[in-house]
Amino acid sequence: MTSPELTGCAPLDNLALARGTVDRVTRRRTDKDWIDAAWKDPRTRVLVVHDGHALVHDQQELVFAAPQEAPAGTRFLLGEDTDGTVYFGVSAPLGAASGPGVATSLREVGALLSDRDAGLLTHAVALANWHDTHLRCPLDGTPTVPDAAGHSAVCPKDGSEHFPRTDPAVIMLVTDPEDRCLLARNAAWPIRRVSILAGFVEPGESAEQAVIREVAEETGITVTNVRYLGSQPWPMPRSLMLGFRADAPAGQVITVDHEELAEARWWSRAGLVAALQAGELALPPSVSIARHIIEAWYGSPLPSTWTPPR
Ligand SMILES: [Zn+2]
Repeated sequence: MTSPELTGCAPLDNLALARGTVDRVTRRRTDKDWIDAAWKDPRTRVLVVHDGHALVHDQQELVFAAPQEAPAGTRFLLGEDTDGTVYFGVSAPLGAASGPGVATSLREVGALLSDRDAGLLTHAVALANWHDTHLRCPLDGTPTVPDAAGHSAVCPKDGSEHFPRTDPAVIMLVTDPEDRCLLARNAAWPIRRVSILAGFVEPGESAEQAVIREVAEETGITVTNVRYLGSQPWPMPRSLMLGFRADAPAGQVITVDHEELAEARWWSRAGLVAALQAGELALPPSVSIARHIIEAWYGSPLPSTWTPPR
């Protein structure tokens, strides 16, 4: 029997955006006295986020503000650290925050931050993106009011309660009977960039069904033996990436859907590493789950990365 490590099907760990050390203290979200006291505490740290960006010092450390320095904006409780430090996020223009640091996106810095900071920034960007794009009650259009320390919103007119939206997406590495992996270039990407296939889970569909449907739609390949590897949030703007492996039985021909993909083909390990070393291909950055899944199949880290967009 082959061990899961050898086939790249071991559960994924150490995903850049699936880290975090701060307790989300969900029970405190409705404790108004505790929230008010935490906001008055000068030790409390506030992370200002805007359009997926925060101020980052030296490409590795988040810059926080004290509550009294924080700009006005939608506020949400991120959690409490083991040392008692409480963290809030505020969605507001970064220019209004004080202190050093450079406006940097979660994509750029997600893999470089500490576990604590990666978790805080991912959480804050996800909540800010939701608040910034869901301003009104979907039933009657009344502006909603944040509730549960920014983790829900309530319509003051009809009392309906609304929760942050997360869109599940599947991302899958498909192999053929020779254990070659299927890599594709999205139609919107520049030449050289390749990754594994991905797509959104549709309403009324399981993640496994979405894997089978997306691979068939994009490449004409029928897959079997779909197995789950792990997940990470991807709040750009609101996805949860669910990673899978799947097998493509022999005797199939790739038929690329040119609406979605520019090209797709099978890569052996030797062929892939040679193309990467020659600069003919570039893989997604390590902040992505795709990179981890490809390297798990390959068996070790690979060279060549495309630059994450800002
Ligand atoms: Zn309403």
